[in-house]
Amino acid sequence: MQRHQEHGHHGGHHQHHSRHHGDDNEHSHSHSGEDMLEVEEAFARIMECFRELEPEEKPVLECLGQVLAEDVSSPLSLPPMANSAMDGYALLHQDIQGASAAGPANLEVIGRVAAGEVSTQTVTPGTAIRIMTGAPVPQGADTVVPFEETDEIARRNSGDTLDRIAIMADLPLSANVRPAGEDVRKGDPVLEAGTVVRSSEVAVLASLGMTHARVIRRPIVGILSTGDELVSEGDPLGPGQIYDSNSSGVAASVLAAGGVPRLLGIARDNLDDLHRKLEEGAGSDMLITSAGVSKGDYDMVKDVLTQRGDMNFWSVRMRPAKPLAFGHLDYSGGKPIPLIGLPGNPVSAMVAFEMFGRPAIHTMLGRGAQARPSVEGVLTGPIYNTDGRRVYARVEVERRDGEYFANPTGPQGSNILTSMSRANGLAVCPADEKSKAAGDRVRIIMLNWNEEVAL
Ligand code: AMP
Ligand code: MG
Repeated sequence: MQRHQEHGHHGGHHQHHSRHHGDDNEHSHSHSGEDMLEVEEAFARIMECFRELEPEEKPVLECLGQVLAEDVSSPLSLPPMANSAMDGYALLHQDIQGASAAGPANLEVIGRVAAGEVSTQTVTPGTAIRIMTGAPVPQGADTVVPFEETDEIARRNSGDTLDRIAIMADLPLSANVRPAGEDVRKGDPVLEAGTVVRSSEVAVLASLGMTHARVIRRPIVGILSTGDELVSEGDPLGPGQIYDSNSSGVAASVLAAGGVPRLLGIARDNLDDLHRKLEEGAGSDMLITSAGVSKGDYDMVKDVLTQRGDMNFWSVRMRPAKPLAFGHLDYSGGKPIPLIGLPGNPVSAMVAFEMFGRPAIHTMLGRGAQARPSVEGVLTGPIYNTDGRRVYARVEVERRDGEYFANPTGPQGSNILTSMSRANGLAVCPADEKSKAAGDRVRIIMLNWNEEVAL
């Protein structure tokens, strides 16, 4: 855990190196003396290259999941006027003092008012106005008594015209009256810049009458798969070929993280195609490639990335997802675009995205690179660590008897996507521990917080 790379810790993408740091194969076993980055170091180097993006103004509903770029103060009071919290009778508190079922207060009903209306009448001593929930409290009235505390139903049942009403309870002054400005007063700060817009914030903004809000815009993320063996979904699979799961998988992860995926397709392992497909990423805020960054490759991807900008090829002390590229690609007429080169194996790609891509997107969104929630839980099966890397094992977390249990979801090979699909968390075996056994307590990074797990 303590071993550090020989070169400086700083400068991130300004370094050209790491192309010959030995073993880049995810499944090999010995690492003596080679340069490996701790997960935290890779994370720090990547994150220092990302900033919050600029604001945009858009319809409130479309802001869901984005971050407010400015404070919002209220152009009005909420509620705008004193109104009733119940269906009942608006009256003067002084008229119902001491009222009870045995000795009700009898009042003359001089009118009625529904939500959306404004009564022109004034409640005077000895009178009441029938009022509906949300209707403005009429002039003169200071208290609302709900139907349940009156003889209204009895009167109705006997065919009464409801010109009079008996109040059978002495409620406190102002009972069931929502005062103007109870929630928000005109000019009050309501939402702060930096707030994530959830459905509650959408509702708050709507309650202020706002149609649009200023939020940090979503990053556009160009996604490129590389490999001669890849075929797009929908096309027939030839001999030796596999479907390109990374394009869609990464795009889905980008969407889930709040970014806007821009699919650049599949680049074949040749210079021309790689250059051409990368060119189509111009204007993105970030690029994510997959494959071609480990040692076994023909190095075409590495060559092209290196030619086009400042690129690092790292080995990160983690399993899965050891090989990782990070740097900036130059575009003529534009500023360099940060690029994360994920490993090709589908689970490695997902886990590396989880560790580095998602926080980068969150940083651009103004949400900060917050970690996922994690819990401590009991393993129900072993995790093996064969070569001194931190292992992120796919587990299904469940809660039983007030305790979290982490069930390994099956084969942990970096190509086994279905064990990723069955997982809702990643259980951690530290780099310096050879294994974790069933019954051991581990830290679990929660990828999904199902209500069932959280309860
Ligand atoms: P590479 O890094 O190019 O050696 O790829 C590592 C492994 O990931 C190989 O088995 C590739 O076939 C596989 N792989 C690469 N890209 C993809 C992709 N887009 N979808 C599914 N598997 C992939
Ligand atoms: Mg390849």
